[in-house]
Amino acid sequence: MKNSITILGILFIFISCSNLKNDTVGNTIITKWQDDKKSAISLTYDDGTINQFTVARPIMNRLSFPGTFYINTGKVNGSVRGKFIGRPFQEIIEETASSKTNQDNFFERASAIGFTGSDEAIGYHTRAGSLFESGKVSEAYDLIDDGYEKLRSGELPISDEIIFHNSKIDTTTWEDFKAYTAEGHEIASHTITHPRLAVLDEVNLQYELEQSKADIRKFLGEKYTFSVECPYGTEDERVMEYAYKIYPALRNRMPEPYLDELNRSSNRQPGTSEKEYVQWQRGPLTDISMEVMKSWVDTCYAHDNIWLVLVFHGVNGIGWEPRTGEELEEYFNYMKEKEAYLWVATFADVTKYIRERKSAVISSIVRDDKIVVNISSDLNSEVYDVPITLKTFVPETWKTAMLDKGSEGDNPLILDIHKSPLGYFVLYSVLPNEGKISLVEQR
Ligand SMILES: [Zn+2]
Repeated sequence: MKNSITILGILFIFISCSNLKNDTVGNTIITKWQDDKKSAISLTYDDGTINQFTVARPIMNRLSFPGTFYINTGKVNGSVRGKFIGRPFQEIIEETASSKTNQDNFFERASAIGFTGSDEAIGYHTRAGSLFESGKVSEAYDLIDDGYEKLRSGELPISDEIIFHNSKIDTTTWEDFKAYTAEGHEIASHTITHPRLAVLDEVNLQYELEQSKADIRKFLGEKYTFSVECPYGTEDERVMEYAYKIYPALRNRMPEPYLDELNRSSNRQPGTSEKEYVQWQRGPLTDISMEVMKSWVDTCYAHDNIWLVLVFHGVNGIGWEPRTGEELEEYFNYMKEKEAYLWVATFADVTKYIRERKSAVISSIVRDDKIVVNISSDLNSEVYDVPITLKTFVPETWKTAMLDKGSEGDNPLILDIHKSPLGYFVLYSVLPNEGKISLVEQR
């Protein structure tokens, strides 16, 4: 491991002017995870299926675990509907009679077919997207040609009915979602209609990302427009580029150089990473045993740099690869038993914490009877508002410490003093732009 002080990018200034002089006194770091825990876990759910909210959410609420739910806004009443933006369907369909699908018309055709009004047509869009993303481009073109042949012959009906909207099963309302955010959960975008973004043309790709964000902002507030999950876990370069311009954080990919990202398909063991942080995504699909799922949690607290991001889908038979409520209960209870080591937080909060920690500049001055710590960050304080945990070393003669943030109305806080091989220290929470904080011995 490299020197953690240099990696932190934290500036220390020691001005020792008294008998407090000691190598570590005043030394202040931001702990890797909130409250100096050993690891972080985010419980994320995709597709906004109803049982995530009626079955999984109450279990999490009982344990005080916040979740992140990536929802398709097009399913929720009151939102903008999914649609194809472009030339009339008939014009596109007629053209396919005389010209094969190629790189110039593929994105338009692959975008349009998904909105022609039947489940089978959506299937053509989805499968063409899957082929395209796995590099089978000419097979994707052929499949689109097949689909349009069926549209031309009338075998596939064309209708204006929007089959994705007004879901008969997933009836969660914006009022419900608003109430879930008040419980501490993160509700975030999974696009409007769950398309294969990699095969949408520019205007439709942007519409799916921007309009779902606009609806989340309108019904839930700016806070929930922080992160997105582009469907099918895509890492398509063109999609990532667009998505990053619209959302500050993607669960699909995190390009931070200090973070290793092991996606759901990765077989690498997180413990082998040399990086400061490892985001380890695991999908607890239906046939993954409870033993394996628990071993992921055990792996977390065997190291100090792992952020386990669990990606759940269906619950109690509704949604893809479902788990039962009983299984979730057992699994979450297992995490609860280890909560002393694990920070369970939303995807947004962990992302913010890591970025706040990496951007913060800290200095500390040791005076006769107190330590003054100054913290600042160039991140937008309206967005980056997750408290970070500071660890400051204090003289061994101190019995307890009093924390004074200097802001009016804040009563000074009494802090316990902990001991480590490096010396005596206190832990406390601040915002990344907190400014000056004083620690004084409490006699
Ligand atoms: Zn999905």
